[in-house]
Amino acid sequence: MAKKSVKDLDLKGKKVLVRADFNVPMKDGEITNDNRIEAALPTLEYIIEQGGKVIVFSHLGRIKTEEDKEENSLRPVSVRLSELLGKDVTFIPETRGEELESAIDELDEGDVLMFENTRFEDLEGKKESGNDPELGKYWASLGDVFVNDAFGTAHRAHASNVGIASNIESAVGFLVQKEIDFIGGAVDNPERPFVAILGGAKVSDKIGVIENLLKVADKVIIGGGMAYTFYKALGREIGTSLLEEDKVDLAKELMEKAGDKLILPVDTVVAPEFDNDSPSQVVEGNIPADEMGLDIGPKSVELFKKELEGAKTVVWNGPMGVFEMENFAKGTEAISKLLANLEDATTIVGGGDSATAVQQLGYEDDFSHISTGGGASLEYLEGKELPGIAAISDK
Ligand code: AMP
Repeated sequence: MAKKSVKDLDLKGKKVLVRADFNVPMKDGEITNDNRIEAALPTLEYIIEQGGKVIVFSHLGRIKTEEDKEENSLRPVSVRLSELLGKDVTFIPETRGEELESAIDELDEGDVLMFENTRFEDLEGKKESGNDPELGKYWASLGDVFVNDAFGTAHRAHASNVGIASNIESAVGFLVQKEIDFIGGAVDNPERPFVAILGGAKVSDKIGVIENLLKVADKVIIGGGMAYTFYKALGREIGTSLLEEDKVDLAKELMEKAGDKLILPVDTVVAPEFDNDSPSQVVEGNIPADEMGLDIGPKSVELFKKELEGAKTVVWNGPMGVFEMENFAKGTEAISKLLANLEDATTIVGGGDSATAVQQLGYEDDFSHISTGGGASLEYLEGKELPGIAAISDK
């Protein structure tokens, strides 16, 4: 069932609660990257234009002690948001109580208020991240309608998303809508051929994703550290490469089930040490006993290129090698470039390291969608229902 979008809500004169994702990186009380604040602007500006009274909130970091509170106040975020919106943002340094309630009562149409980090409520027994029903009900009582625009926490049931949505009319904002359209679209109803590319360190982190994508995609390409557990399952020597011994049988099973749908690298960049300056070489087949695989080789890039020809939908999650080291980043860079130049295809990058790689290389505008949520996009690709979206009112 489709979920309501912010465009389906009557916003004029309404107190609109907005769960944003302002979990920005901070250093010494300064925001070091404000992409997430900028990304929230379209939804907030739309509500302002429609005459809604915006009450926006978010979590920031983890709160385990009183000191964590000082470092993780949303106040600097409210200042930056005010600059970006070009209008005042009233900041209330509380997550509940009279000061917050009376400030909300005083809001006019188009005004914006931000309240303090929702995770401050976790100091008293995980009320926010434990989805305490009373807290969700209380926050819901502060508004007339609720808009969830935080995809990064959509895979968790918290008081600030599921708790509120369970009590009042709710909708998704433009950011979450885009994730539903692209990731949800790829998983539920992809234009074919649909090719998935999975990489990263561990098979165990991505079992659910591999299994689900083997069901829904036409091809599943596996690179990165994960590939060596599959190599092992084929009886190959993998030297000192990453191995998850307890996943070798599973890898075997997956390959038997998948047949030629599952594609592995055909060559590997190896080196004796996990070090950028370690002397590397490209090998095909077995990896020498004292070497480890740190990237896919050029023949694998060619093979993957062929498999991608004519693809109409591509989902990519996880680097092809240790891309943090320049000498082992070539495979990941090549895949970024291949996808950026793919014509007539919907190209989607799951959050996390592959999204970072695409952004670092400056290809972000050449992709159809780069997910803003690492964990959430993985669970979405696993075919799981995300509680933060499921709780939103049906259209
Ligand atoms: P993930 O979070 O599972 O997507 O994994 C990302 C991490 O996998 C990155 O930090 C990469 O450096 C690492 N990685 C990718 N390929 C390899 C490899 N061949 N050996 C060791 N680590 C790898």
